Amino acid sequence: MSTSAIPFPKASVLGYPRIGERRELKRAVEAFWAGKTTVEELEVTAAELRKSTRERLAELGLGRDDASIPESFSYYDQVADASAAFGVVPARFESLRNAEGGLDLAGYFTVARGQGENLPLEMTKWFDTNYHYLVPELGPDTTFKLVGSQFVDQFLEAKEQGFVTRPVVVGPVTYLALSKPADGVAADFNPLTLLPQILPAYVALLEQLAAAGAPWVQFEEAALVNENLSASADELRGALATAYEVLLAVPQRPQVAISAAYGGLDPLFGAVVATGADAIAIDLVKGAVPATEGLDLSGVTIAAGVIDGHNIWRANLSDKLALLERVESLGAKSVTVTTSTSLQHVPYTLRNESKLDTELKSWLAFAEEKTQEVVALAQGLTEGAAAIAEQVQDSKDALARRAGAAGVNVLAVREATAALKQSDFDREDAEARRVAQAERLGLPALPTTTIGSFPQTTSIRKARAAHAKGELVTEGYEQAMRDEIAQVIALQEEIGLDVLVHGEAERNDMVQYFAELLDGFAVTENGWVQSYGSRCTRPSIQWGDVSRPEPMTVRWAKYAQSLTRKPVKGMLTGPVTIMAWSFVRDDVSLRETANQIGLALRDEVNDLEAAGIATIQVDEPALRELLPLKKKDHADYLDWSVNSFRLSTSGVRVDTQIHTHLCYSEFGEVIDAIDALNADVTSIEAARSRMEILPELADAGFSRGVGPGVYDIHSPRVPSTEEIQELLELAVKSVDPNLLWVNPDCGLKTRGYEETTASLKNLAAATLNVRAQL
Ligand code: GLN
Ligand code: ZN
Repeated sequence: MSTSAIPFPKASVLGYPRIGERRELKRAVEAFWAGKTTVEELEVTAAELRKSTRERLAELGLGRDDASIPESFSYYDQVADASAAFGVVPARFESLRNAEGGLDLAGYFTVARGQGENLPLEMTKWFDTNYHYLVPELGPDTTFKLVGSQFVDQFLEAKEQGFVTRPVVVGPVTYLALSKPADGVAADFNPLTLLPQILPAYVALLEQLAAAGAPWVQFEEAALVNENLSASADELRGALATAYEVLLAVPQRPQVAISAAYGGLDPLFGAVVATGADAIAIDLVKGAVPATEGLDLSGVTIAAGVIDGHNIWRANLSDKLALLERVESLGAKSVTVTTSTSLQHVPYTLRNESKLDTELKSWLAFAEEKTQEVVALAQGLTEGAAAIAEQVQDSKDALARRAGAAGVNVLAVREATAALKQSDFDREDAEARRVAQAERLGLPALPTTTIGSFPQTTSIRKARAAHAKGELVTEGYEQAMRDEIAQVIALQEEIGLDVLVHGEAERNDMVQYFAELLDGFAVTENGWVQSYGSRCTRPSIQWGDVSRPEPMTVRWAKYAQSLTRKPVKGMLTGPVTIMAWSFVRDDVSLRETANQIGLALRDEVNDLEAAGIATIQVDEPALRELLPLKKKDHADYLDWSVNSFRLSTSGVRVDTQIHTHLCYSEFGEVIDAIDALNADVTSIEAARSRMEILPELADAGFSRGVGPGVYDIHSPRVPSTEEIQELLELAVKSVDPNLLWVNPDCGLKTRGYEETTASLKNLAAATLNVRAQL
């Protein structure tokens, strides 16, 4: 069989979850890390997972031998896989290289996770998803060579099992565009300049795959849709042309599909067509049907990404067929059906959800069900809509039931959001608030506080698990949580902190906790998706109009406040973060949902205030994360996101102090949004960047209370009093001491008590020293 004769598959998915339906890979990888199993045992588990994924996808209707099934497994991360395959190892891990110059599996994990003083690779959000990839570190001297064989190995492994699959590899342009300058390399070094050096490694990969008999390879080039990268559209266009001129000229190669997920490919669609790639996969969920005037599409297959790979709603197959017809009218060589993105962002299957409401379940599609949608649409496209009439009707019926279901459209909620007026988003003038709050709270200069959570100990987790299983009655569970709160309050008093927290012991997760208490949300049993490495999250599903049936945090806050004369901060998660870390509904605007959540939280904030809580923090660590990939969408996003925060926090009195917490320190163009939130105090990560954010904020005209993190909570290391003091002395140089707060970088839930207590004591001591100098 001549491989070039195999057309791009009629039905395919761009990638598939790999953590295992029951998180088998997570368990296997973590057991290996803990030294409980051998590398061989881990490899066996991984191979079994790959085999069962191929078999399952074939059962669901993807072809066994036509490159329909993507080969998209990863032990940790697909970008790290490319680094390992091409021999990119940071200097600090040089000693881990094996005889071929690459990494064996243990070394690969070490680079991903760090070792002693050698920090791991940085993790960054993968496009607009909650998946995080490992950022390659490159410099002018970086060399690339194909030294890892996992891509061809997995293809051959599949072949032996009777499958002809399609290897999925991060493409050269995206790989470089997502990289950063290595330590010691000039900050303005542009990794895309390494294109001529990396291409021979990709050429070698193509030759290797061709020799193994691969008919197709898929290069993920999603960087092409992302306008937030440092590379400009022109740079990307140039790199694309250079890269594919070389790759497509390789005499012995598989056919090449370029996939561009996570957004519309405009304005670069024409440039991708011009490369001469054999197929182009485009995202038709986030993006529109591209403009094709003047383009010759007769040689290219368009894989139409009409099924949403990034959210969990069942598609209206009739609408999707109509969309496919529009794509067919563009005159491409052929049109096939695929997902808009890899399915790695959605859970495996609805089959494992026994507790989810059956009606709600009928509106959803996880990875398996989405694969079936793709297969049905491909059949409809080739055989005509009549061939899938029943599936089309089922999908329409489900959507109609969804549209009319109780809870999806709640009149009182819609009336409340429709009645919002400007004054609902505004508070008194900031200076008046500062004066009133200073009087009410009576805090010293440089007040000390924490970000909210205290260590989630084994005993807390055990109590929660026992309560969930019904082994611990609610009363016993709540008593355990109160005991925990009492200890956390006593500890903070002993350390001498100024504004206390209750510690968040009762929260399983800062989003799910609220999702479980708000109307309009559902939670899954097994809906895990990979966040990074072996870390998985179980996003809640926001399916209906959101409202708050009853107070969610007030009794905990009140209890904590009853134990101390110092102010205890109320602690809530903001609308944007709740949305960013859930699957949100796709049938109303994000602005509407944000306002609904904003109003529900506003009631909670007001109830906290009425219960005597004088400082209330609303966390928005996801504010930067949800920034759309297209610049034209930024203004609208920043408007609704900032306003939803303001809505939740603007119902309070002048002397109630609103805090917010934004995890990161790199804000770039959203820096003005921090001020627009109109919070009284903002805490931000700042220790690792040595307070760099403060002059940036000052330049942006920010003059509110600010708590730059004075120590990094991501490691158990205890910062010394001197080092915290040094950072504080730096901070007072750029911030008025009346506005400066002292706190760690982030919450302490992942830490242990030993290092937490020692670190906070040093934080308190350093603050006293600096106060004495004022
Ligand atoms: N209040 C939360 C905590 O302390 C904030 C967590 C976060 O920023 N991600 O855990
Ligand atoms: Zn944080």
